[in-house]
Amino acid sequence: MYFCNPMEGIEEIKKLLGVPKDIVITSHRNPDGDALGSSLALSLYLQNHGHKVHVIFPSEYPGIFHYLPQVEKSLIHDLQPEEAQEYLKNAEIVFCLDFNSLDRIDKMAHHIDLKKVKTILIDHHIDPEPFADYVLSDTSASSTSELIFDFLEMLGVKDQIDLKIGECLYTGIITDTGSFKFATSAKLFRIVAELKELGVNDKKLQDAIYNSLPEKSVRLLAHCLYKRMELMPEFETGYIYLTKEDYKEFDIQRGDTEGIVNYLLMMKHIKIAALISEQPTIVKLSLRSKGDISVQEIARNHFNGGGHKNASGGSAYASLEAVIRRFRKVIPNYITEDSNKTMI
Ligand code: 5GP
Ligand code: MN
Repeated sequence: MYFCNPMEGIEEIKKLLGVPKDIVITSHRNPDGDALGSSLALSLYLQNHGHKVHVIFPSEYPGIFHYLPQVEKSLIHDLQPEEAQEYLKNAEIVFCLDFNSLDRIDKMAHHIDLKKVKTILIDHHIDPEPFADYVLSDTSASSTSELIFDFLEMLGVKDQIDLKIGECLYTGIITDTGSFKFATSAKLFRIVAELKELGVNDKKLQDAIYNSLPEKSVRLLAHCLYKRMELMPEFETGYIYLTKEDYKEFDIQRGDTEGIVNYLLMMKHIKIAALISEQPTIVKLSLRSKGDISVQEIARNHFNGGGHKNASGGSAYASLEAVIRRFRKVIPNYITEDSNKTMI
């Protein structure tokens, strides 16, 4: 974890936030629980301290997160570009949360005047691009929500984390750790204990996120596992693909494919998993791995993406068949036949 300029950085930020400011908080395209939770938590804190805050996401968020405080007040650049651009133009500070390269916010990046506005990046992905004035980047953190907790602690205002802020942070933590299955640490559990002491109802949040699926999603999961799963056992790899027709037949909406890729890793001998989905103009990949194998390298080297060692994503402008071919071709470079070792 670092600030570009360790102590000075946080002191300068304290000074910046010492007087009410026009602030925009933004996060990545297809925002997930962590993007939403970290952004809304920070927004609630900043509003409680007299700042004018607008939360802007490049694209829409999954409906299951409707319970998050003020999520309905957030702006979606795809839907309201002019309003969003106006707020970006007038902002004095832009927080960039849960992403670390400007291509993750697409066209919105052109509307942030990096020379004029102060930018603060808080993120836990690998390889941050050096575009922000202040950077809090910790790839060992479970989530950006965990880092927002740290950030508020660094600002000396941890005692101002209230129940609503706690619910947002908890949402980001459980979604990015898959309910405490990945990227956990003793520090994270201490934070979670503090959130629970605030009164966060973890059972309610788990139910809202994981036990609220519509019937079609369960049927989609069955379809993926029965008809769309391919294994490459010699390379301990499995993938599931979804066609445009599947999207139509199952009425797949934003967020509906969340978690499906993880089912592949439930097989003992599968160490690399991919969900490859054909979308209107691109093919999107969701990659997961076990242990020392880095899917971040696969995403970065072959699919214009990135993320974390064990969870990454990317995309390609090519046909579904071509992307599957490319995936099958590159996999042997990352895992040796019948062994657990990576070759890179
Ligand atoms: P998911 O597979 O759940 O969409 O994403 C897994 C991880 O990879 C997340 O941390 C996400 O931020 C990152 N990720 C997903 N898609 C992309 C992408 O297109 N580019 C980059 N750089 N990261 C991605
Ligand atoms: Mn995250």
